[in-house]
Amino acid sequence: MHQNRRIYLDHAATTPVRPEVLSAMMPAFTTIFGNPSSLYQSGLQAHQLVENARAKIAGCIGADSTEIYFTSCGTESDNWAIKGAAQACQSKGRHMITSAIEHHAVLHAFDALTKQGFEITKLPVDADGLLDPEEVRSAIRDDTVLVSVMMANNEIGVIEPIEEIAAICRSNQVLLHTDAVQAGGALPIDAHRMGVDMMSFSGHKLYAPKGVGALYIRKGVRIANFFDGGAQERNRRGGTENVPAIVGFARAFELAVQEMEESSRQLTGLRDALINNILTRIPHTRLNGHPTRRLPNNVNVSIEFIEGESILLMLDQLGYECSSGSACTSGSLDPSHVLLALGLPHEIAHSSLRVTFGRSNTMDDVKRLVDDLEVVVRRLREMSPLYNKNILGV
Ligand code: PLP
Repeated sequence: MHQNRRIYLDHAATTPVRPEVLSAMMPAFTTIFGNPSSLYQSGLQAHQLVENARAKIAGCIGADSTEIYFTSCGTESDNWAIKGAAQACQSKGRHMITSAIEHHAVLHAFDALTKQGFEITKLPVDADGLLDPEEVRSAIRDDTVLVSVMMANNEIGVIEPIEEIAAICRSNQVLLHTDAVQAGGALPIDAHRMGVDMMSFSGHKLYAPKGVGALYIRKGVRIANFFDGGAQERNRRGGTENVPAIVGFARAFELAVQEMEESSRQLTGLRDALINNILTRIPHTRLNGHPTRRLPNNVNVSIEFIEGESILLMLDQLGYECSSGSACTSGSLDPSHVLLALGLPHEIAHSSLRVTFGRSNTMDDVKRLVDDLEVVVRRLREMSPLYNKNILGV
């Protein structure tokens, strides 16, 4: 066991800011510090930085610049899309559809709408975590105004069939929002070809700083404002723009798209090596989520008879930083709603370990992790009454 280097394996929770991103941001912290709404030189320059960033992000997702709105995070983008659509469309209907495995930024936004009298249908997923587009078709009613289904899941990495869902929504004249927070920079995205109406992104999942996000709103789609204030973001999202973070977000997104093919190949290699090693070397383990329709960097396994939290704590002591579910739910004792939606019993959902690789990881990290994990699992199982009773019969 090594203790000299910490190995970060939780890139779905957040990522470090890339040096290239930090240096792109520096002018916006120093020389070009003006308010983008001001009409003198440093304001106009700051405004230009924001507009250049908007054009870059639009280019990364096959959209027009005028369809990109900057926000403070992925959570704000999700809330704006969902609550904004609910408010704008309520004269047409108050029914909306989502999936059981969405991030809490989506699920809790819908919970808030339920309290206001909106009706939400939460669709189930199959044992691999995939939503059947036909389920969406059957759930659409005359009063349905919005469908929100994530592009890629943050816990199990599963990639949902958004294009098929988009075609169904379009033919029924229902708006489609997709939470692409985990997909941004990791999967190819072409907003116009995909036919989605709204898409949420977040900077800190793709090597930009925390506290910046974006919402794509297709031209012609009208939703209510979420933040009322100044005339920023073409009167649709008041608030002085976080210029350095916006500049960093665009640079990071641009780099991620330029490097996507190569990094995807590299991450998939690490992912599959870890999955194969865990499943073959550690007994009573199972992969959660579809084996191939998943993000290149995501591994989620259940290690039966032990609690995910105990594994995390022991791995932390050995220098590994990983997760037992989404960062937002760790600390709570409830098993993950995503794993329960796959049909896993509570005790297996509780025994999950999520590893999400990133730019700094190597095959050597995988080898070390598997070696250490084998030891950690053996030790924890020796102390597990469930393991002793069910497997050893003692
Ligand atoms: N949606 C998904 C799928 C996420 O993984 C996250 C973050 O974990 C969010 C939304 C929220 O993004 P942010 O942390 O920028 O608010």
